[in-house]
Amino acid sequence: MAVETLEDLFLHSLSDMYSAEKQLTKALPKMSKAADNPELAAAFTTHLEETEGQVQRIDEVVDLLGLKLERIKCKAMEGLVEEGAEVIKEVPKGAVRDAGLISAAQKVEHYEIASYGTLCALGRQLGYDEAVELLEATLDEEKATDEKLTVFAEGSANPRAAREPRRLPRRPQPRRLRRRRNEFRSRPAYASIYRLRRQEGA
Ligand code: FE
Ligand code: FE
Ligand code: FE
Repeated sequence: MAVETLEDLFLHSLSDMYSAEKQLTKALPKMSKAADNPELAAAFTTHLEETEGQVQRIDEVVDLLGLKLERIKCKAMEGLVEEGAEVIKEVPKGAVRDAGLISAAQKVEHYEIASYGTLCALGRQLGYDEAVELLEATLDEEKATDEKLTVFAEGSANPRAAREPRRLPRRPQPRRLRRRRNEFRSRPAYASIYRLRRQEGA
């Protein structure tokens, strides 16, 4: 559909957010499952419930204004969700992954904050007062979620991640050292100690 008027732009933006929220209802359960810290997992689940409510609010706005949503896909959310999936794929479960999940989630929230901020401004301009109230309620939830994630990252996930031991790559041992150790092990007295230890399963 061609966007010509401010009303068109409002409808287009609203349709985009409908797609974005729908994508999130599928992504958030995965984020929750992937989180290491149970509190973070719970935060994602809570926001899933809010997100389902946000989809309903868009339906209410549609009813209120007698609109028909465009069937479009929010490509930005598709990309942001994909980045979250990459974190899950590439970072093993633990505090570092949690820090990455929070980062991915905050990028999502910031996109939503920008989008709902615009929708509220367009709605106010167009005199859609009741609709704006609904959209503001969603905007507040997105902002609160973003703040909660900041507190969680700085107060818990990041400090924990900083303490997580670094997996150093195994350094190949210089050949000279290896040979010397083998000589040492093959001396009669030590050889029997090693045999004993092996028998004990040490
Ligand atoms: Fe949302
Ligand atoms: Fe979008
Ligand atoms: Fe959100």
